[in-house]
Amino acid sequence: MAEEKHWEEGIETHENVIFSCYGGMSNTGITSALACLEAVKELGLEKVVIGCLAGLQHGVQPVMGKTKAAKKVITVDGCPFECSRKTAELAGFKLTKSIVLTRDIGMKKKALHEDIGQNLKPVMEYISQDEVQKAKDLIVKLIVE
Ligand code: SF4
Repeated sequence: MAEEKHWEEGIETHENVIFSCYGGMSNTGITSALACLEAVKELGLEKVVIGCLAGLQHGVQPVMGKTKAAKKVITVDGCPFECSRKTAELAGFKLTKSIVLTRDIGMKKKALHEDIGQNLKPVMEYISQDEVQKAKDLIVKLIVE
């Protein structure tokens, strides 16, 4: 089996990197992830990519390198815990911008465990496409401006 070749400095990479908190325990974390994916779909992978947030905690070389090479590094968090911003900053990155959906698009956080044993719905019924769109628009605006 051929050895995997990692990315290294000097090799072309994505222009910008966004990090999503992506917690699946709440509507906010899921919306953050979906909005980031929609932003990548709209702008294309040359322009922007979703970075591997967990890789930052472990100093994974290609993740660190591509993030260092990015023109803009933006974190997207669902709620004020700001897991993505804190992780990226702990890894030593200075952010171009941090988005928090409860603050920046007025989302109300819903912890999904609250409905267990009562009125638990299919996961996508907790997600507002309007909020995904608003969050995506905000991410796109910050990348292209
Ligand atoms: S920032 Fe909030 S919504 Fe996102 S993973 Fe952390 S706790 Fe969950």
